[in-house]
Amino acid sequence: MKKHFCPCTPKTAFERYELSQGLLAKRCPSCAAVLLALEDYRQWRDRHFPEIPVAEPAAVPGQEEHSKVRVCPSCQHIMGRYRTGSAESFWLDYCPGCQLVWLDKGEWAQLEASDLALHLDTILTERWQRLIKERKTLSFRDALLEKRFDAESLPEIRRVKNWLDAHPRRKDILVYLGENH
Ligand SMILES: [Zn+2]
Ligand SMILES: [Zn+2]
Repeated sequence: MKKHFCPCTPKTAFERYELSQGLLAKRCPSCAAVLLALEDYRQWRDRHFPEIPVAEPAAVPGQEEHSKVRVCPSCQHIMGRYRTGSAESFWLDYCPGCQLVWLDKGEWAQLEASDLALHLDTILTERWQRLIKERKTLSFRDALLEKRFDAESLPEIRRVKNWLDAHPRRKDILVYLGENH
């Protein structure tokens, strides 16, 4: 990997760093941010963990940060942001062009604690990001439902909705109900 600089303090060069046993990355000695090449990560994982279980998005503890935008230390383009999990989860920064992952201080430890350290490349897929979005929408809708209706009606509303969603004439029924209130 060529020489990279961290923007935290002007011209702090990243230094060679062993992120996990046998996994070489780079680390800023000033802010402890880690720069990880996805290719190095994949090789390390495949060598040490040839069989990994399939992961599903879950809640990953961590601060939601929406505003912060990172610039790739290699190509200077803005890095993409990827949610690690549903609910309150932190975001990973990744440059698809350079295939570089940026980990803020402590984020690798959080991934390990959430059993996601072996699924870094899965997190960066469209499928994972889409699943998280769907789950977030679902839990948001659930929260709205619980706010608007009493506890007794909730199971009935959910039952009717499931029945309706599976019905081949769902649209017609909805139109009919809409016309009759
Ligand atoms: Zn730094
Ligand atoms: Zn880049």
